[in-house]
Parts: sequence; C-alpha cells; structure tokens
Amino acid sequence: MAEIPDFHGPHFGPPQANHVKLTWYALTDRARWIRVVSHSCECSRTLYELCAAGG
Ligand SMILES: [Zn+2]
Repeated sequence: MAEIPDFHGPHFGPPQANHVKLTWYALTDRARWIRVVSHSCECSRTLYELCAAGG
C-alpha cells in the first residue's frame, strides 16, 4: 500500500516586526483571469492566497 504523503502546505507565523498592514477592498470584477500563485496550508481556519490577475 502506498504511503500517504504529507499534505501540509506553508503555515503562516506571527507578524514580523517590519510587517505592513494591507488595506482590504470590496470585491470588484476588475480582472478576467485570476491565477493562484501560492496559498497557505488548508489545515488553518484562515486560508491566504497569493493571486495574479490579467486579461
Ligand atoms: Zn497544515
């Protein structure tokens, strides 16, 4: 039987001393194409995605 690989992705830690607070805006339909470049581990209650948009 094949072993199940570790499913954890990157976990985020506490804010760093030089962190920058982001301003969150309401959703808009500005881009036709969104691609997820990276995301935090799905085992956390909050999931972060880094997305690139184009089109
Ligand atoms: Zn995890």
